[in-house]
Amino acid sequence: MCVALAAALMFAGYEIAESPGSQLFGKTLVSGPKNERVVALTFDDGPNPPYTGEILDVLRAERVHATFFVVGRAVQAYPALVRREAETGNAVGNHTWNHGHLVLYDNVGLRRTLQRTDAAIFAATGRHTKIMRPPFGSRDWLVLDEVRRLGYTPVMWSVPLAKDWEDPPPRIIAARVLRYAGDGAIITLHDGNRGIVCAHTHTPRLCDRSSDVEATRLIVDTLKRRGYRFVTIPELLRMDSARSATRRVAREGE
Ligand SMILES: [Zn+2]
Repeated sequence: MCVALAAALMFAGYEIAESPGSQLFGKTLVSGPKNERVVALTFDDGPNPPYTGEILDVLRAERVHATFFVVGRAVQAYPALVRREAETGNAVGNHTWNHGHLVLYDNVGLRRTLQRTDAAIFAATGRHTKIMRPPFGSRDWLVLDEVRRLGYTPVMWSVPLAKDWEDPPPRIIAARVLRYAGDGAIITLHDGNRGIVCAHTHTPRLCDRSSDVEATRLIVDTLKRRGYRFVTIPELLRMDSARSATRRVAREGE
């Protein structure tokens, strides 16, 4: 009885520590400035044709930019899509080679999955990335330590996940996001499914992200009407460091 209770408490404690906004395992970027009308739209688990391209079409038509956290094995399969992401002013981040739980990796494995993915991104775009998002939000002290040592900023999200992987209708995905999308929000949608390379799977249904394409349009339209500007994660980080520099100067001037 006691053992079961202790196990339940430990599990609950771990769940809280690992929740997207928790800083218990080390600092991550969870949101941007709380007093500016900006949001960052992010897409995980791609590239995944044709949906990644369709999302890029929506972003271009809306004249906004987003950040794509890509899975290495999918980058290797579809490099042209990642090149298009980068060439059209969107940002690309590292989402590991095969979407594993990073808490199960040792440092060597962790380094390998990030570096192999970065090499694929570099081959596709000619640029390295310094932002990463841990798959499933899975992290602990050791993971974040090593991630930072490798020069990455770990990026989480502030808007609760819309469970778009359960394939609800686009208006439901949009409503779930819009309910929580305030100043400085980081929104996460999915243009792929854990980096599954759909040409290699027998269940193409797993790859269908058409609801996310339409939800993107609804979310961008509504947030624009609410006066929001869309920024990429690197832009959000620059705003963040500019603000802390201003604070520093103000303190020094006191
Ligand atoms: Zn993911």
